[in-house]
Amino acid sequence: MRDFSTDHRWLSINTATVRKSRGVEQPLTTIIEACVQRGIRAISPWRDQVAAAGLPAIAKLVKDHGLELSGYCRGGMFPAADAAGRQAARDDNRRAVDEACELDATCLVLVVGALPGALAGKALHKDIALSRSQVSDGIAELLEYARARNMPLAIEPLHPMYAADRACINTMEQALDVCDALDPSRTGALGVAVDVYHVWWDPKLEAQIQRAGKDRLMAFHVCDWMTPTTHLLEDRGMMGDGVIDIPRIRGWVEARGFAGYSEVEIFSSGNWWQRDSAEVLDTCIARHRSAV
Ligand code: ZN
Repeated sequence: MRDFSTDHRWLSINTATVRKSRGVEQPLTTIIEACVQRGIRAISPWRDQVAAAGLPAIAKLVKDHGLELSGYCRGGMFPAADAAGRQAARDDNRRAVDEACELDATCLVLVVGALPGALAGKALHKDIALSRSQVSDGIAELLEYARARNMPLAIEPLHPMYAADRACINTMEQALDVCDALDPSRTGALGVAVDVYHVWWDPKLEAQIQRAGKDRLMAFHVCDWMTPTTHLLEDRGMMGDGVIDIPRIRGWVEARGFAGYSEVEIFSSGNWWQRDSAEVLDTCIARHRSAV
């Protein structure tokens, strides 16, 4: 297992972590400059942040600074209530792949979606099995497009509390079943993003990480699970402040050969987004060394 205690060369910042400073939305260009200033070598930006700043400008900034993208957030949201909705998802996902290529990302992260309409407040049906089959079909279709452009797709299983509205793939086992079905020969085009926040509780986690193997382990996201958790989406903790044994899980992924970035991804409307982003980044660096 790599020693992270003396430097932060394997730290990546998911830019949602500092999307707000003292509660105020920050432009992606400012976030990138703050990361570069601190010797952070990788980021994982969100599509809306990139769109707001302009894709060509961000692509140039990333290139000029020699930054790497540990991932690009995000594609997915495949299920829809009708054919037009699925077509729109298909088109949008292709654009996400194109953007990821433009930014030379390591992979496009997929948050696969769940019951159509649920995220907006009203699910249009209750058939989660149907959603799961639409997810599988959607990934299969996108995989062909992405493979032709050499952009790996990383399925991110989300904690079961998001099964209705954000992702009906909720365990590593489910995600890997999809990988095995769609990419049985392990070409490197399809894999998983392991986010400790979503999978830390899973009794099969170690076994499924072993099953994944190096070629399917495409991203490693860290933050912490707070007790109590006060918000379903925006109360993620800083590494070391909660109950996740992050070094143990990192040990498992590295034992299988994962040698990429440890990406800090914290959504925290009540705490970290209220602080100055300089303090947040400095804390990420310190905790990367001491708690990851
Ligand atoms: Zn994540």
